[in-house]
Amino acid sequence: MSALITDRTSIQFRMLNRSKGPAMWSPRAQCDRQRFSIEWRKVIEQTKNLYIWQEEAVRIILKNDEVKGVETSFGTRFLAGAVILTNGTFLNALMHVGFKKISGGRAGEKSSGGISDQLRELGFVVERLKTGTSARLDGRSIDFAAMTEQKSDEDEKCFSYMNVQNTIQDRRSCYITHTNEEVHKELKKGLKYSPLFTGKIKGRGPRYCPSIEDKIVTFKEKLAHQLFIEPEGRDTIEYYINGFASSLPLEVQLKALRKVRGLEKVEIFRPGYAIEYDFFQPTQLKHTLETKIVRNLYFAGQINGTTGYEEAGAQGLMAGINAVLKIRKQNGFILGRDESYIGVLIDDLVTKGIDEPYRMFTARAEYRILLRQDNADERLTEKGYKIGLAEKDRINVLLEKREMTTELINFLAKKSLKPEEINNDLRKAGTAEINQAVKAISIAARPQIEFMEFLKSIKGVEKLKMMSDDRMREIAEQAEIKIRYEGYIQREKMVAEKIKRLEELKIPEDINYGELLSISTEGRQKLTKIRPANIGHAGRISGVSPSDISILLMYLGR
Ligand SMILES: Cc1cc2nc3c(=O)[nH]c(=O)nc-3n(C[C@H](O)[C@H](O)[C@H](O)COP(=O)(O)OP(=O)(O)OC[C@H]3O[C@@H](n4cnc5c(N)ncnc54)[C@H](O)[C@@H]3O)c2cc1C
Repeated sequence: MSALITDRTSIQFRMLNRSKGPAMWSPRAQCDRQRFSIEWRKVIEQTKNLYIWQEEAVRIILKNDEVKGVETSFGTRFLAGAVILTNGTFLNALMHVGFKKISGGRAGEKSSGGISDQLRELGFVVERLKTGTSARLDGRSIDFAAMTEQKSDEDEKCFSYMNVQNTIQDRRSCYITHTNEEVHKELKKGLKYSPLFTGKIKGRGPRYCPSIEDKIVTFKEKLAHQLFIEPEGRDTIEYYINGFASSLPLEVQLKALRKVRGLEKVEIFRPGYAIEYDFFQPTQLKHTLETKIVRNLYFAGQINGTTGYEEAGAQGLMAGINAVLKIRKQNGFILGRDESYIGVLIDDLVTKGIDEPYRMFTARAEYRILLRQDNADERLTEKGYKIGLAEKDRINVLLEKREMTTELINFLAKKSLKPEEINNDLRKAGTAEINQAVKAISIAARPQIEFMEFLKSIKGVEKLKMMSDDRMREIAEQAEIKIRYEGYIQREKMVAEKIKRLEELKIPEDINYGELLSISTEGRQKLTKIRPANIGHAGRISGVSPSDISILLMYLGR
């Protein structure tokens, strides 16, 4: 085992239609069985190098300042070239419902001790954060007719560019309802028992997912807050109430919920709760997510102070890649702020640290014109391929898309359209008619023109029209973006290149900032603590001023 991930959950594999048994052998069941056996084989193939052990890791094994493995609660020792800690909200975790508090990392799951204390002794800064969740509702007791139905998106988008047909069957709707003054009155009565407002909870919570009690106090003037009632899955009667996280006592939560329209008779499966847990300031990490104090030890996920599934997943991926590269003695895999949201996330964490749970918002990225959903393949596929994470067929799909996009743009730049061919459509689209032949590209650039429809209406793009609808849409979308926004894209690329040059100015690892007395005291303290790898990184640290950077540049002989 080269990298070891401390995750107690094993791979869950859902047996399709198993309960029906051979007596129910229907075409659907047969199809499910075939799918099951194909998927099962795929799982076996894809996980053949994965060894799973379910137990609590209580200590990391060290030799000098390098990690060598982990030890579990039963004393089993696992030796590894690298270790990734992904303890989530479980380290010294406490769950609060009113003044009742119990040790636990999530409803029904125990807290984990040991590791935080050991790392603290090694010099790691360990702090506390808080998060929370809402009650889970019994769907049978909800009056959905009194709420507004929210159907799923009709226009499904896939994460994959590999032509995956992934139409989800039997989609279940969500429902919207609202709190009201009666609900707020019930909640206010419970505030004196709130662990949040009586100082029992010390950790800071996520600004963007406040509890309902937080909302009624912070936004006193609001008479109602929107709530989403969401099914927890396709085969369950359990519902999640989004927007009603709470750590108020159970009775208060229930009384308040029953004042919500549609929830007058609601029964709950479990109350909402808040949870406090240890996290490690992420400024203690390199951009590879390796810790600066212990070599080959990586941290990923909520223990780095983030909140949310996507943030955790992104870090897990990057820590995994980097742990393997480190073991293979290869360079780290770091994505730039202009290359991906993962790059922004990790750079923010390790450069600035956090003082409240960090959520990734598009607004945190400065190069939003470059970081688009439609060009994720363009930005990342080749990088993935180089480190062995993407197959050749993915590259081929990308190359074909690139080639077809260029071909389409070139064709539109050459093709002339006469007034009699196009004026009818221009009139319908509400844009000016032409009185002499013009290049198709100039018509395509007009904002009133629906690009796909335009393509379908002109002759010469038969090759494109022969492709599947999805593929044609992808290529047309790329061409459209390039035709309409190329100027903006290039301008942003230039700014990113300029900043990147600063990233290339490396700062020696053994630099003694204490000797650089011309740098401000705050600047010296922050640089000493964070030890940035390069000038670009140093410039983004809060408290390091432009004049501190000039001094640093002079010191580096620039
Ligand atoms: C109550 C609650 C509600 C949330 N709601 C949302 C939401 O609506 N949307 C959203 O995006 N995010 C939500 N989150 C956050 C999201 O669940 C987490 O950010 C994300 O799951 C963190 O992933 P992770 O891998 O860091 O940790 P986790 O998913 O918490 O996984 C940690 C795993 O490590 C195991 N573990 C811990 N310590 C040890 C040890 N010592 N030895 C062995 N195994 C160990 C645990 O058993 C667990 O399986 C919620 C979190 C909580 C607690």
